[in-house]
Amino acid sequence: MDIPRIFNITESAHRIHNPFTPEKLATLGAALRLERGTRVLDLGSGSGEMLCTWARDYGAIGTGIDMSRLFTEQAKRRAEELGVADQVHFIHGDAAGYVSDEKAGVAACLGATWIAGGVAGTIALLARSLRTGGIILIGEPYWRQLPPTEDVAKMCLAGSISDFRMLPELLASFGQLDYDVVEMVLADQEGWDRYEAAKWLTMRRWLEAHPDDELAKEVRAKLTSEPVRHAAYTREYLGWGVFALMAR
Ligand code: SAH
Repeated sequence: MDIPRIFNITESAHRIHNPFTPEKLATLGAALRLERGTRVLDLGSGSGEMLCTWARDYGAIGTGIDMSRLFTEQAKRRAEELGVADQVHFIHGDAAGYVSDEKAGVAACLGATWIAGGVAGTIALLARSLRTGGIILIGEPYWRQLPPTEDVAKMCLAGSISDFRMLPELLASFGQLDYDVVEMVLADQEGWDRYEAAKWLTMRRWLEAHPDDELAKEVRAKLTSEPVRHAAYTREYLGWGVFALMAR
């Protein structure tokens, strides 16, 4: 079981697989006013940076589940490196339908809401692992500017304009699901650059090391087109944020 190999190639050097910087992740942890010992569940935990740094900085404990074998290995190594391997636990597996035995104070899915069919389904899934009064975290894109055409949405790697909302509408949608938005931390364009531009050097180095790989042509094409596509589309049109929710 694994995610498509192209992501394990292009994001192999990422610690954070979304447009958040380490500073934003720390801001979010501080904003939640985590008490030491808070149990955090993270579905689609990537390379584990949120759980590991929150364990180090705020005394969090918890579990992350991710379908990428590589990212999960990196998460375990990161936990060792930060000296928090006794506080956090990473599972290589499918997070779809995952419900934890022990209830969490914070249940999160940052940038992987497709695992339960979208934002509403993911909130419902996370709620099953949450203790009463706990906080759900959803990391999700929104439109900074509404794309003028469906083609522009596709260049932002969205399926269609209707895949995402403008920020006020996204916030309103949480209310319609009967959740209060109790905090939010938004990525910025420099954060998008950290996420997207970091792939370019990784791709370049990978191509030099794997010229005959079956994915070399695809990676070459991406390296050629991605900087301009990112600057013209993702960077201009897409926002991204983490929204902290509590059931009303
Ligand atoms: N939350 C992490 C990773 C976001 S990227 C971070 O912010 O750094 C999306 C992640 O979802 C990737 O790590 C990918 O491997 C993982 N993923 C995709 N499908 C999944 C599934 N069905 N179950 C668990 N993880 C999945």
